[in-house]
Amino acid sequence: LAACDRLGVAIVPRGGGTGLAGGAVPIHGEVIVSLERLRRVREVCPERWQMTVEAGVTTEHVKRLAAENGLYFPPDPGAAEQSHIGGNVATNAGGPHAFKYGPTGEWVLGLEVVLASGCVVELGGSLRKDVAGLRLADLLVGSEGTLGLITAVTLRLLPAREASLPIVGFFASDAAACHAVSSAVAYGTEPAALEFIDRAVMAEVGAAYPGRVPAGMAAVLADFDGSRPAAIAARAEFSALLEEASAVALDEPAGAVLWRWRDGISPVVSTIRGGKVSEDVAVPVDRLAEAVDRIRQIGSQHALPTYVWGHAGNGNLHPNFLVDPRASEEIVVAESAAACVFSLALELGGSISGEHGVGWLKRTQIDRQLSPEQREAQWAIKRALDPQGLLNPGKKLGDDPQRTSWLAA
Ligand SMILES: Cc1cc2nc3c(=O)[nH]c(=O)nc-3n(C[C@H](O)[C@H](O)[C@H](O)COP(=O)(O)OP(=O)(O)OC[C@H]3O[C@@H](n4cnc5c(N)ncnc54)[C@H](O)[C@@H]3O)c2cc1C
Repeated sequence: LAACDRLGVAIVPRGGGTGLAGGAVPIHGEVIVSLERLRRVREVCPERWQMTVEAGVTTEHVKRLAAENGLYFPPDPGAAEQSHIGGNVATNAGGPHAFKYGPTGEWVLGLEVVLASGCVVELGGSLRKDVAGLRLADLLVGSEGTLGLITAVTLRLLPAREASLPIVGFFASDAAACHAVSSAVAYGTEPAALEFIDRAVMAEVGAAYPGRVPAGMAAVLADFDGSRPAAIAARAEFSALLEEASAVALDEPAGAVLWRWRDGISPVVSTIRGGKVSEDVAVPVDRLAEAVDRIRQIGSQHALPTYVWGHAGNGNLHPNFLVDPRASEEIVVAESAAACVFSLALELGGSISGEHGVGWLKRTQIDRQLSPEQREAQWAIKRALDPQGLLNPGKKLGDDPQRTSWLAA
């Protein structure tokens, strides 16, 4: 980085390359800084419920290491075997269990970061309480490689959960399933995960479901954890609530198998037509049913097969428009449908990205969500930490309004 700074050469940090917003892709000849060889586990400290690992350690490895030491690392983004902890921090990755436990950033105590100048700094550390100075580590969380290069992460962990008990409800309509999610949240039940899968998706992936699945139904997946008696009681209360709310069939499949099946949804849906334009918006949880219904209308208006699932307890939906990847005109139509989905999310008081980030793909959308004052405050931070604009240019924040477009330069 020091050499790039001296020579004025732009760089793109790259972790596992699983990001869905094009953030780790070089667009105009930047140097790629790959973190894949930073694989060292520096410290696992069960007494303090902490570990420090280098940025290239995979998410799956972090979770396994925690479990082997009687601990639990909650974030579970879908590509855990390929994504890196550094990439998870840089995108503030979520996943199903972010409903109860929040995204990756909630678990970061400290970061080792290389600044644009090439200088290495420690931000935060291993203290659970420390209010000396600004919490700069928080700025790096979700910064998508635009503020610094994360080389190591100190994570806060939890003691392992005694039990993790899933339950799945099947509903005759997408709307009934969405209402079940919003009423479960309003009622105050607290599952660790609360997921929605629409009827179209269930028709494709139902055959591989690890249990009994009635035909033509949408699904709600929930997971209750903690001590065994507490998890059993909370799950019973949740199932009573679902049965009261609407006609529902319930199943209690085994946890690990269920979540592996859930992880497989995205790749299975990709194979239907060979490609998809996959989006990631967030809406207030009480607008969920309306959002899913209107996403489906957008799909019909654009004549695109439409599939929706997501981390619905957090209002985070993944609308997917299927395309033939060889038909460029279909991709253009799907991108126009995605733009309508962003407008819908903003109209409902939501966000253009719940967890995947802005990256390169949504750089032109960010102005629609942020006010000019919010944008200027973000750019003030970017300019302070990256005065030459060399860290992942064009990503996350789009172009600096005070500069000529870096693309045109
Ligand atoms: C099948 C599938 C399922 C997924 N499910 C989820 C999900 O449930 N929840 C979710 O949030 N995401 C999900 N994702 C998206 C993706 O896995 C996450 O965004 C993940 O955190 C990216 O990590 P990575 O190491 O692959 O980062 P990359 O793709 O390599 O990079 C992502 C961004 O972070 C930057 N970056 C990477 N490493 C560093 C670093 N060390 N320092 C500074 N910047 C860095 C890059 O420049 C880029 O902007 C899914 C992806 C796939 C393919």
